[in-house]
Amino acid sequence: MTTAHDTIAFADALKEFEPVIGLETHVELGTNSKMFCSCPTAFGAESNTQVCPVCLGLPGSMPVVNRAAVESTIRMGLALNCDIASWCRFARKNYFYPDMPKDYQVSQYDEPLCTDGYLDVTVETDAGPREFRVEIERVHMEEDTGKLTHAGGATGRIHGADYSLVDYNRAGIPLIEIVTKPLVGTGELAPQVAKAYVTELRDLMRALGVSDVRMEEGSLRCDVNVSLNRPGDPWGTRSETKNVNSLRSVERAVHSEIERQAAVLSSGGRVVQETRHFHEDTGRSTSGRSKEQAEDYRYFPEPDLVPVAPSTEWVDELRGTLPELPSARRARLRAEWGVGEHEFQTMVNAGALELIEASIAEGVDPAAARKWWTGELLRIANDREMELADVPVTPAQIRRVESLVADGSLNDKLARQVFDGVISGEGDVDEVVAGRGLAVVSDDSSLLAAIDTALAEQPDVADKIRGGKVQAAGAIVGAVMKATRGQADAAKVRALLLERLGVSE
Ligand code: ADP
Ligand code: MG
Ligand code: ZN
Repeated sequence: MTTAHDTIAFADALKEFEPVIGLETHVELGTNSKMFCSCPTAFGAESNTQVCPVCLGLPGSMPVVNRAAVESTIRMGLALNCDIASWCRFARKNYFYPDMPKDYQVSQYDEPLCTDGYLDVTVETDAGPREFRVEIERVHMEEDTGKLTHAGGATGRIHGADYSLVDYNRAGIPLIEIVTKPLVGTGELAPQVAKAYVTELRDLMRALGVSDVRMEEGSLRCDVNVSLNRPGDPWGTRSETKNVNSLRSVERAVHSEIERQAAVLSSGGRVVQETRHFHEDTGRSTSGRSKEQAEDYRYFPEPDLVPVAPSTEWVDELRGTLPELPSARRARLRAEWGVGEHEFQTMVNAGALELIEASIAEGVDPAAARKWWTGELLRIANDREMELADVPVTPAQIRRVESLVADGSLNDKLARQVFDGVISGEGDVDEVVAGRGLAVVSDDSSLLAAIDTALAEQPDVADKIRGGKVQAAGAIVGAVMKATRGQADAAKVRALLLERLGVSE
């Protein structure tokens, strides 16, 4: 009997099994009003203040389709290389649960608006970047459900709760769901491909302006499907990890599910078709609801809404509104910045492109912008397990640090300490410099004093240098750097030292 804790190490799992992955991504569109009524969609309003008879499902109310939501969906479909249906309908998905006061959700079922597309994504491997084509099954429109809050229990789940609260502000907000076809052949790169795909989708939606995709507000949620099979065998049974809501978690969810399923299968067990819940704290998922018996949602065409029948002219017009897409933009930036494929991919993977672009726009030298975002700031982000974009350093602060480096007040080592201070909340750049007493020691007399002290402490080294062994100078320079806590310019110390001893290179 295997338990939820039994896993096989990832690398071993991949020796025995091949993964198949599939992603269902829900994104809240950034329309001003809801999908079928004119209620506002702003996030964070007091509960149940953005509701009306339509989204509350009161008898006699009639829905009307939000044109902006249809436009956004078509533009997204076009950007994903999909076919756009010339005629399609909404469907009612019937279920009884208090997150939807109508007892059904309006969605699209067998007549999605967009079908059969693809999105190419690139992941970095030891052997260089590798591209994968993720095929898209469908992009359809639906409405979001309300939000339930289970109170009084320890876990925030319904089990153990004393009571539950419902907030219908979110009910009826336009969503698009983007469903991939099963993706095979990713092997050990499956977790990275999944993350790269969701990242690319997010960037695409931002570029199109159809959603601002704030993952921390839950405006993009991913269901992560994974199955394993032995090479040559048919696909295995999939599990579906629900509502994974950060890019990093998408990667971790695939990773941990491969380890879990491999353990089940190699001990002779059977993977149960079920939904699973991902836990951010442990990076693992636990069993949710079984899907062995397909739920019957009794879908039928929504009788209160007219079909959506976009004309060829309208679709063409929308095609004309597509902006430069992220892949084209990347190609352009790489050419503009003149960097190699590998270096560029490092910036992409770090999520640094926009940050570098913004820094350059702020006046930072392009090479310096790249260096900071893919060097020190990335290291800090990784250390603190956060996305690079969430590191609290602004392009203006980078520009300020760079200007202090340029006029010789800071060196790179001190600049790193400045960023550490900024990120630790010690204030703006100049405040950290003042607060930590960071400044390059450039006045010759204090450097010469430090050099003399070091020479006196290491007379044998001093003799060697005098005797022409210039390589030995490193020991003295090192001692001076240490004595000045890194606040000296090493090249300058070296020059002063050689001059002091009357030696030339
Ligand atoms: P459901 O509503 O049951 O979640 P969908 O058709 O909406 O079904 O989505 C199923 C998702 O699972 C799709 O992304 C699909 O590509 C993926 N999928 C289907 N079969 C497998 C499999 N054997 N392994 C992994 N993913 C799969
Ligand atoms: Mg699903
Ligand atoms: Zn409403």
